[in-house]
Amino acid sequence: MSHPSKHLLAIEGLEPPHIADLLDLAESYALLNRSGKTQRDLLKGRTLINLFFEDSTRTRTSFELAGKRLGADVINMSVSTSSVNKGETLLDTASTLNAMQCDLLVIRHAQSGAPALLSQKVDAAVINAGDGTHEHPTQALLDALTIRRHKGRLEGLVVAICGDITHSRVARSNIHLLTTMGSRVRIVGPPTLIPADAARLGVEVFTDMKKGLEGADVVMMLRLQRERMSGGLVPSAREFFRFYGLDAEKLAVAKPDSIVMHPGPMNRGVEIDSAIADHPTRSVIGEQVEMGVACRMAVLDVLARRLPRNR
Ligand code: ASP
Repeated sequence: MSHPSKHLLAIEGLEPPHIADLLDLAESYALLNRSGKTQRDLLKGRTLINLFFEDSTRTRTSFELAGKRLGADVINMSVSTSSVNKGETLLDTASTLNAMQCDLLVIRHAQSGAPALLSQKVDAAVINAGDGTHEHPTQALLDALTIRRHKGRLEGLVVAICGDITHSRVARSNIHLLTTMGSRVRIVGPPTLIPADAARLGVEVFTDMKKGLEGADVVMMLRLQRERMSGGLVPSAREFFRFYGLDAEKLAVAKPDSIVMHPGPMNRGVEIDSAIADHPTRSVIGEQVEMGVACRMAVLDVLARRLPRNR
């Protein structure tokens, strides 16, 4: 099992074998989870702290479940009640975490780069659970695992990532992972929500949704991240849905067996029509959540193997 670092801060920089190893391990955890035999002693005696400075439902609970299924002591540090709200700096928080002998630290922060900064100051292995508009590496892993389970491969697939690309760390991590694994990635959205450095990312850019979806194997929808927008970058929600919302008519130009994904939280009727989000055969949104637990177990497993035995 190869992993190049003590931490998981980003997908950018990982090589195909690192990604493939994580996905293979996650696949074995997915099977184990389905069989109901999930409790293992791998992280017995280890402390995992979930430090979330931004809201989360799926990511925080799935890290908690993943840690518990592997036997770790899991602590959720709620930022609203911690000293961070009393003005403690990120670096003071780091010393507190060191004093608590935290082994694995899962962090989400509104500032891009906060997990990387913390990783230089804490003894724990740090996992980025989403930093600003930068990366959300475990989301990209769970998306890739879901795609691989449906399509049998990542190489050569046409993946259309649609909506608010500029503000999406999910898009960024997925672009790095999928292009590294040989998928053909398209980004689709209004010009105001396409990042300026799109060409450097090795993707094709489409502002016409139907052209962008033509022949796609995978359609990944993203939420409008209004909390990260400084001005009015989009017209009304109704107008956005008309041009960039996924409905049956637009999906009809993708491959007939294409799958529909969304990282959540979804805004039904804005970027995705309810009938598509709940489609019994095309939507794999529920499976993404299931694969999230498996992928986080794989990441915790791989990083725990590199931890010193007795601290
Ligand atoms: N849950 C994802 C994230 O934290 C996507 C989103 O919030 O729209 O980035």
